Amino acid sequence: MRLRSRQTERALARAVTLVESTRTDHRREAERLIEIILPATGGATRIGISGPPGAGKSTFIKRFGLDGIERSHRVAVLAVDPGSKRGGGAILGDKTRMTELARAPAAFIRPSSAGAQSGGVARRTREAILVCEAAGFDTVVVETVGAGQSETTVAEMVDMFLLILPPAAGDELQGIKRGIVELADLVLINKADGELEEHARRAAAEYANALRLIRPAHREWQVAVRAVSALTGSGIPAVWDDIGRFRAALEASGAWTRRRAEQARVALWAEIGDNLLERFRTAPTVATRLADIEREVTDGRRTPAAAARLLLAAFLGERL
Ligand code: GDP
Repeated sequence: MRLRSRQTERALARAVTLVESTRTDHRREAERLIEIILPATGGATRIGISGPPGAGKSTFIKRFGLDGIERSHRVAVLAVDPGSKRGGGAILGDKTRMTELARAPAAFIRPSSAGAQSGGVARRTREAILVCEAAGFDTVVVETVGAGQSETTVAEMVDMFLLILPPAAGDELQGIKRGIVELADLVLINKADGELEEHARRAAAEYANALRLIRPAHREWQVAVRAVSALTGSGIPAVWDDIGRFRAALEASGAWTRRRAEQARVALWAEIGDNLLERFRTAPTVATRLADIEREVTDGRRTPAAAARLLLAAFLGERL
C-alpha cells in the first residue's frame, strides 16, 4: 500500500475545493486542472450509496472502507447533497463517525456542503471523482445525503449503485420509492446483528423475491440482496466480492465502457443546459424583464409558451 504524505493529502483536498468552487476564476482554473489530469482518470470503480436516514450509511461506509483498505484498495468517499437546505455542519457530523477511516492513509473523505443547483452539485461531484481517480484511488464512494433527487443524480455518475435499507419489510418502508429500489445493483439490508438479525434476513429474502420480478438494468447482472451488519462487519467482504464480480461481468460484455460513454454524453447535455440557462437568466435583456413577464404568466395574462418565446427572442436579440 502506497502511503500518502501530508503534502499530497493537502493537494488533493485543495484540488477538490477548487473543483467545488463556483467563483468564475476558480472555475477556469478547475477546468485547466481537469484537462491536465484527465489522462490519469477513469480507473476507479465508482460506487453510489444511498438509503433512508438512519439505515446505517455512514457506519457502513466506514466499515466497508476499512475492509477495503485491508484488501489493498484505496478508498475515497464523497458526499452529495443537492437541494438540501441542510448546511455542511450536519454532514460534518456524519464525518466524525468516519474519523477512523479518515485517519487511514489509504482513505480520503470529503463531505460536500449543500449546493444551490443540483446541476452544479452534479458537475462538482463528477469532477471531484476525477480528482480522486487521478490521485490514485481505485474505489470512489459517492454517498447521497438528503432525500429527493439525489439518488438519480448520483446513479448517473457512478458505475454501481448500492441501496442500504434498515431491517424492515418492504411494506413498512413507506419512505423508499420503488424507483430508487430499481436503481440499485446491490441491495443491503443492514443491522443483521443481535435481535435484528432475523428481521434483516427475512427482509432480505422478501426483497430478493420482489426484485426477481423487476427487469434487471444490466442483463449481465442479477441484482443481489444481502443481509449485512455495518456494526459487526458481517457480510461486508461479500459486498467487495460482489463489486468485483459486477465490474468483471460488465467489462467482459463491454457494458462498462458503453455506460461510461453514455453518462459522459448525458453530462455534456446537462452542462449545455445548465450553462445556457445561467446565461439566459443573467443576460441584461432578459434579467430586466424576467420578473414582470413571470408575473404576467402566474396571473394568467400571458401564456407560458408566449412568454418563453418573448424572453428567448429578447435573449437572442431576435425580433418577434
Ligand atoms: P445513516 O443516517 O444512514 O448514515 O446511518 P448511521 O450510520 O448514522 O447509523 C444510524 C444508527 O444506526 C446509528 O445509531 C448506528 O450506530 C446504527 N447502526 C448502523 N449500522 C448498524 C448495524 O449494522 N447494526 C446495528 N445494530 N446498528 C447499526
